[in-house]
Amino acid sequence: MQIFLTYDYELFFGEPTGTAEKCIIQPTNQLREIAQRTGAKMVFFIDTGYLKKLIEYKDQFPKVKSEHEAVFNQIKTLVSEGHDCQLHIHPHWEDCTHNGNEWIMKTDRYKLDDFSDEDIVRIVKEYKSILENTTGKKVSSYRAGGWCLQPFNRVQKVFKEVGITLDSTVFPDGKFTAGNYYYDFTNSPAKSKWKFSSDLIEEDANGNFWEYPISNYKYSPLFFWRLFILGRLKPSQHKPIGDGYPMSSPGLRKKMLTKGMNLSASADGYFVTKLNTVLKSNAKKGFEEMVIIGHPKANTLFALKQLEKFINANKSAHQFKTFADLNL
Ligand SMILES: [Zn+2]
Repeated sequence: MQIFLTYDYELFFGEPTGTAEKCIIQPTNQLREIAQRTGAKMVFFIDTGYLKKLIEYKDQFPKVKSEHEAVFNQIKTLVSEGHDCQLHIHPHWEDCTHNGNEWIMKTDRYKLDDFSDEDIVRIVKEYKSILENTTGKKVSSYRAGGWCLQPFNRVQKVFKEVGITLDSTVFPDGKFTAGNYYYDFTNSPAKSKWKFSSDLIEEDANGNFWEYPISNYKYSPLFFWRLFILGRLKPSQHKPIGDGYPMSSPGLRKKMLTKGMNLSASADGYFVTKLNTVLKSNAKKGFEEMVIIGHPKANTLFALKQLEKFINANKSAHQFKTFADLNL
């Protein structure tokens, strides 16, 4: 099986957003070290709205200047080490500002669908060129911020125009439509990749785009109780390295603890413990691909150790790949 370890490279979007050092730089360096020791390359979906704002404010505030330098240098290092840096858009950055001390988040317009047609075209083109200028590589893959990329027909035309050929946003049967979120992947194809045209979850053999869905797993209430309790009991191992807070997800915690939840297969924190189970289940279904999502900010010391074990245990039977390797 081809395994894609993908990381959304970003701050938190609640208050506070956390620091670049703890949410991005430090945990990404720990991932780079794992990659060096194991030989696995990773995909980093770079939150390019954040890059835009770093550029916008760097000459105004010294704090942003050093943040800009650290982030842009790290992205260049990732590229030079063979990692794949691709496009991740959180368009709410359009509405965010910096006050000289911290980022002021405004997340009312959280999804591309919250913007006008003209804005969508401008944002996709502008962000893609910022990322390409930073990496020196052509962008061809995409992951939507917060899994929100529906309805896809609003971005279909500009994606085709700029040469995005692969999306990795869907996770089978995922659904969350509260707060600023909207995604509904119910009844997505039971496949590890498919082609599509105007609807992310409707296969179209003649479509211009490939969907490489993130694998999914139905986490039980007990899983979430363990996760929350371990964070309290053993914070040194189980508390996220990132020092910010997420945007609110109304009703999510209660649902997790009472009913459990179908979520994406993740390398974050305690979720890492289910990766082997997901791999086995994918193999049983005859899948040839497995996409894992992670976030540097949500890494824990426990997760980093387990991730390295997972790579070492599976790197001879499977191949750890990047989307750039596919040449789609
Ligand atoms: Zn994101």
